[in-house]
Amino acid sequence: MRVLSCIITGHNPWLVLLAAFVCISGGWITLGLLRRAENTRDLQRGGWIFLTAVAAGSSIWCTHFIAMLAYEVSAPVTFDPILTMASLLLAVIGCACGFAITLSRLPYVAQELGGAVVGFAITVMHYTGMMAYRVDGIIEWNMGYVIASVLLSVIFAALAFNQAIRRSWRFAWFAGLVLFVAAVVLLHFTAMAAVSVTPLAMGAGLVDSHALDAMAVAVAGGGLLIIGTGVASYMIDERASRESYQKLQHMALNDLLTGLPNRSSFSDYLQAELGHAAEDGAKLAVIGIDLDRFKEINDLRGHKAGDQALKAIGRRLLRLVRDGEFVARVGGDEFAATKRFQNQSELLDFVARLEKVLFEAIRIDDFETVTGASIGVAVYPDDGTDQERLVSNADLAMYRAKADIGRAVCFYESRMDEAARARHTLAQDLRRAAELEQLELHYQVQTSVRTGDICGYEVLLRWNHPERGAVPPSEFIPIAEESGTILVIGEWVLRTACKEAASWDRPYKIAVNLSPVQFAHADLAKLIHSILLETGLPPARLELEITESTIIADKSRTLHVLRQLRALGVTIAIDDFGTGYSSLDTLRSFPFDKIKLDRSFMSEVDESIQAKAIVRAVLALGKSLEIPVLAEGVETNHQLEILRMEGCDEAQGFYLGRPKPVGQIFQATSTDRDEEFSFSGRVPPLRMRRR
Ligand code: C2E
Ligand code: MG
Ligand code: MG
Repeated sequence: MRVLSCIITGHNPWLVLLAAFVCISGGWITLGLLRRAENTRDLQRGGWIFLTAVAAGSSIWCTHFIAMLAYEVSAPVTFDPILTMASLLLAVIGCACGFAITLSRLPYVAQELGGAVVGFAITVMHYTGMMAYRVDGIIEWNMGYVIASVLLSVIFAALAFNQAIRRSWRFAWFAGLVLFVAAVVLLHFTAMAAVSVTPLAMGAGLVDSHALDAMAVAVAGGGLLIIGTGVASYMIDERASRESYQKLQHMALNDLLTGLPNRSSFSDYLQAELGHAAEDGAKLAVIGIDLDRFKEINDLRGHKAGDQALKAIGRRLLRLVRDGEFVARVGGDEFAATKRFQNQSELLDFVARLEKVLFEAIRIDDFETVTGASIGVAVYPDDGTDQERLVSNADLAMYRAKADIGRAVCFYESRMDEAARARHTLAQDLRRAAELEQLELHYQVQTSVRTGDICGYEVLLRWNHPERGAVPPSEFIPIAEESGTILVIGEWVLRTACKEAASWDRPYKIAVNLSPVQFAHADLAKLIHSILLETGLPPARLELEITESTIIADKSRTLHVLRQLRALGVTIAIDDFGTGYSSLDTLRSFPFDKIKLDRSFMSEVDESIQAKAIVRAVLALGKSLEIPVLAEGVETNHQLEILRMEGCDEAQGFYLGRPKPVGQIFQATSTDRDEEFSFSGRVPPLRMRRR
């Protein structure tokens, strides 16, 4: 070898080994850090590129420097400090440029071009370093070797990045590392072969080799420190990103509140289970669960209590699952489960366990509650073979369980499909009912209990279906609410009733029922205001009936709308009082103009002491709050007598008058009454004003 041939007396093998170690570990951390940078973007990527460039540049520089110091030379050697530092800086800057190109969006050749730039940076560093190496002699360069060294470095580094970044085969990253180390080593030796020095003062002032060794070790120490910093950052970041990945993965697959798997995990799991069941010929149950009284806890005790209830249920469900069973939370108060089974008894056992935990009391702070649940089961392959059908059939069964007060668990039956389809058709028919003039309003009289005078009429909607005949409101109002058609229908009812009442020659009030959906969606106050203006009905003649569920649905919004309505001059009655929540808080939250006592109490008031006591209590409540009470569902004279004795203000019921089309209410309502009963004041028949 001609490397500094004239002055080199030997190599320090330890330093050669040290250089090799720095070179390999530098290459390893360089490619490792570059991989990190690859997975980041923007500013973060800039930071990683910088760190990689510092690690790469300084490790290559250290390798070169230690390798130079490993030569035992016979001529005095010095280093130009500025050029030495410049070589380090050039290595770092050149590497940074190369890495930036490697990770850029440059099409096709980004990696190779970036690698070539790094290879070139290594040669620039090397030759600048060589210029800093001052030896007392005549230096000659062999241009052939110089060019070869540049080409080798550029080509090998380009190949190294091609392998390490593209990673087209299993050991590509290691191949990249080997090529990168080869680029550094080949450059060094070829470049060293390119230079020859003829010493001017042979033997004069031999270099203090110990000082050079110490320097080499110090440089290696510095270099390794930088490499170590790179390794540490890599590990810290790797760990942090692994942790955050695991956290993200947990968040993506689990429900944060209960810790149960979420809808997306459920769906994945079910898909996989269906695959297994198809292979094994096993059965798989899909179970839909909906809590019954969760909304009540949320509404009455607040969201915190609701969350606590969900957590408690989540814990119980997690504890309950065994092999082949899976439970997830798929919505607010909805859960879903699957169970692989062979015998029906295994499924029944699972369902029984589910039922047991869902009906166990939950203690939240100082109160105890039972949420209860409706459970619907559909079985693969009998009730469906694909995920969508099984889930929708389990839901159908669950809704049936919900509708059936006596049953918490329902198994899917194909006739449910028919019922659901019939409901769907009814909803579609209803949408066109108003246009097709199938809707009609009936009016039921409301009278004063003391005088028998007519106070007003409740407006009750009727649907005359062309095929099904008269569909009762209890059947079609919920469908209209579900499908949103109630908004159109409700407006029609209001407009038609107000127009009708405005045409009467007596200023009777009309009471119109409002649905919670109308409160939630329409600008109700504006609508009613415009209807009153349009029809000319004085606001005082319009009473709006709302049920407690309207207030519970969205208390603050409902109260706001109620105040707006009250400001228009219309009155507000609370309907069906005594059923549902019947919370005193409802009465306190808004000054209602009337309490309508639910008709269920009337039917029992004759025989049941309890019913009578409740009627009495509600009447007393009305008196003390100064809100008149109207008793609904009065069917006999005896019931009316009781009301009269208890001091009830108004009454409504079949005994006083059935709901009738407007044409028929102009005949005296007394025809409905018991012959023995007579009011103190006779009511003249109602006449219509000329329209
Ligand atoms: P509601 O507001 O409590 O209406 C009173 C219901 O009791 C009416 O039933 C009426 O026919 C019935 N009823 C009146 N007197 C007696 C009686 O002496 N004995 C018995 N057994 N029943 C009596 P209907 O017309 O079937 O309406 C049922 C429910 O449908 C209404 O209950 C109301 O909540 C709803 N509804 C009716 N029309 C409308 C409407 O236009 N809009 C809205 N949102 N709901 C309506
Ligand atoms: Mg009503
Ligand atoms: Mg009612």
